[in-house]
Amino acid sequence: MFENLNEKLERSFKLLKGQGKITEINVAETLKEVRRALLDADVNFKIAKSFTENVRKKALGMDVLNAVKPSQLMVKIVHDELAELMGGKFIDINLKGNPSVILIAGLQGSGKTTFSGKLAKMLKSKKGRHPLLVACDVYRPAAIEQLKVLGEQIGVPVFTEDGSKNPVKIALEAIRQAKLQGNDVVIIDTAGRLAIDQEMMNEISAVKDAVKPHEILFVVDSMTGQDAVNTAKEFNDRLDFDGVVLTKLDGDTRGGAALSIRSVVDKPIKFVGTGEKLDALDNFHPERMADRILGMGDIVSLVEKAQEQFDEEESRRLQQKLAKNQFSFTDFLKQIQQIKKMGNLKDLAGMIPGMGKALKDVEIEDDAFKHIEAIIYSMTVAEREDPSLLNGSRRKRIADGSGTNIQEVNRLIKQFAETRKMMKIVSQGKNLNRMMGNAG
Ligand code: GDP
Repeated sequence: MFENLNEKLERSFKLLKGQGKITEINVAETLKEVRRALLDADVNFKIAKSFTENVRKKALGMDVLNAVKPSQLMVKIVHDELAELMGGKFIDINLKGNPSVILIAGLQGSGKTTFSGKLAKMLKSKKGRHPLLVACDVYRPAAIEQLKVLGEQIGVPVFTEDGSKNPVKIALEAIRQAKLQGNDVVIIDTAGRLAIDQEMMNEISAVKDAVKPHEILFVVDSMTGQDAVNTAKEFNDRLDFDGVVLTKLDGDTRGGAALSIRSVVDKPIKFVGTGEKLDALDNFHPERMADRILGMGDIVSLVEKAQEQFDEEESRRLQQKLAKNQFSFTDFLKQIQQIKKMGNLKDLAGMIPGMGKALKDVEIEDDAFKHIEAIIYSMTVAEREDPSLLNGSRRKRIADGSGTNIQEVNRLIKQFAETRKMMKIVSQGKNLNRMMGNAG
């Protein structure tokens, strides 16, 4: 995400390295590079110009403390300005109404249907809602089928009317059904075309007028850069939507759409899609996104993701096992599965400050744990619980069974033993602290 922009901005800040103070001249030089970085990121020329102008005013107007280096000051100003450009504050979707009706619009291929599924999943698992998905694409039976499959995967009902050619009727009937069945959110996936045409716009407008949605979300592929911005403008002129969903941000190395959309349509980005999997959906926090663009990582989101997977009960149980040196391969496997649920490893690692750049050219497989899992799965339950059983012949059997080799098995067992020893010491240390704290 945003790798190119990050690299170029950093290069421009370097121009200020070694400079004692901010001057008209060194600011102008730096901002020339910042502007070029923005243009290369496919940010609209006018936006890039006013952006650098704002930064210039702030930098020159600032009473520079001696303690702050000009390069640091510039990073801070650019950071705040980037966050501002992307909308400043996080704005959540409106879930008023019962059912809350959410209309999804966008071009074909933008990721509308995938987003509808992701949103249903998020609302169900994180907000305890009971969504109903509605397939309103009357032209493409394949799209209806796709939504049905998604619904099945996430355990959310999908409303369809086979053969119907009337999206307004389908949407109204779906809402009626939702009320009967107790679905408190209705997500309507509309038909898209490859390009904007009047018929499509008329159709979505008609659905909008009939169902009076509480929230209209416009979905757009971030990799299309300026085209994304132009499409957003046309949809907004016609639909006056409430928020933008930027999909495929995982493949967007430039970031032009993310940076420009807000100031062109004056509507907040509410979600970003970061992968094909159904949990690859995040709320959009401008401040955190600015952190990421500048390679500062995003610890807050990382901690939030971890907390979502965090189970207090389980954690207490683990703590006890660790202290008693009973942490087993079964526990280890569970931990791996929790980490996997948090999302793509490279994205996660990129949230650690400084890590994004370090990992830029490193391939991290989506399934980096594949071998470890295979090895543990090839162990018997008794072996997982008591690794001391693992003698030479058992290790050989496990290597064969998991399609790995004896070295890999040995390495994992050795690392596991070391980790276990260390964790025991750490958890004892914690208990000791606690005891001392209580005593004092
Ligand atoms: P629709 O025609 O607008 O409904 O688009 P789809 O939901 O069918 O998505 C089009 C393609 O984009 C599919 O192959 C999706 O898997 C893919 N896609 C959707 N969202 C994302 C995303 O956030 N990241 C990536 N990498 N692919 C996505």
